Amino acid sequence: MKPIEDIKPLLESPKKVVITMHQKPDADAMGSSLAMFHYLRRKGHDVTVISPTNFPDFLKWMPGCDQVVDFESQNDKAMKALEGTEILFCLDFNAMSRTRNMEPHLERLHSVKVLIDHHLEPQPVFDFGVSDTSAASTAQLVYEMIYRLGDEHYIDNDIAQCIYAGTMTDTGSFRFASTSARVHRMVADLLERGLEHEYIHQAIYDNFLENRLRFIGHSLLNRMEVFYETNTAIMAIPYSDLKRFDLQTGDTEGLVNFLLSIQGIKLAALIIDRNSEVKLSFRSKGNFDVNTFARKYFEGGGHFNASGGRSSDSLDRTVQRFIRAMHENEDLLQ
Ligand code: 5GP
Ligand code: MN
Repeated sequence: MKPIEDIKPLLESPKKVVITMHQKPDADAMGSSLAMFHYLRRKGHDVTVISPTNFPDFLKWMPGCDQVVDFESQNDKAMKALEGTEILFCLDFNAMSRTRNMEPHLERLHSVKVLIDHHLEPQPVFDFGVSDTSAASTAQLVYEMIYRLGDEHYIDNDIAQCIYAGTMTDTGSFRFASTSARVHRMVADLLERGLEHEYIHQAIYDNFLENRLRFIGHSLLNRMEVFYETNTAIMAIPYSDLKRFDLQTGDTEGLVNFLLSIQGIKLAALIIDRNSEVKLSFRSKGNFDVNTFARKYFEGGGHFNASGGRSSDSLDRTVQRFIRAMHENEDLLQ
């Protein structure tokens, strides 16, 4: 993979570009993709952003979000955009399988493939890119790429808002270890450019419906289990809870973090029966590596302190498997 700045000559004449991200995109996947979208459009390219699946309502305020094509519900439009694509940008994921049903179509493309990502162990299928696990967010990598290409004059309020949103959420509102001086310098630059950060916090965190809060209360009371001997807390959510509280895509985001707020807890797992499969989210504090854990036991991956995986067993069996895996790692959890 050649360094990202080597794409500069390619971007000098108008190209047909597709930008895509991981399925069920979060604010970093969507924010980095839309920042890239505005930047490339301003440079005169023909750009389409495709999301492999639908995405949470709390992202819909993002400038340009109304133009994102959902590969599942707008398949014809997405396939048309992919036809004859010259450059494919893959943002905020490290393996093509993270694009779900889009994967075979992306593999068939004859385009130049560019990766911009901060997850561990990327697949070796990209021509150009940056894979920087020390970056707090993919949005930050897009910001740095724009600077490296000498194009910082293109950073307007739309781009600033998208970059800030991705970084704010991936750093847990600027509290995780990844929140380096480099992050704060970028944010200072965005603020000097006129960004109003308060609006973005409200748009993302103060925009839920009542049912989501009631679901959180119900889950904390009834679905949480704490294993003090292994410093682990879990929450297992049956599909019937998702139906009962009428949860939408994105409504369970952030729930796993509550578990880590218990004194002494080092490993937190949120295990949700999504009906088609069981999804797992892992978070850790300190030196327990949940990327390795997710890869080893649940066909997943991610970052050192935040990862996810899946299981095709029932919810109960998945919880049993998790408990066994937790005991196998007892020493590392002390
Ligand atoms: P979340 O728990 O918020 O869904 O995901 C946490 C982190 O783990 C994210 O960086 C996400 O990209 C990654 N991740 C979540 N699920 C999976 C998965 O099934 N496979 C892989 N490789 N990574 C995942
Ligand atoms: Mn990210």
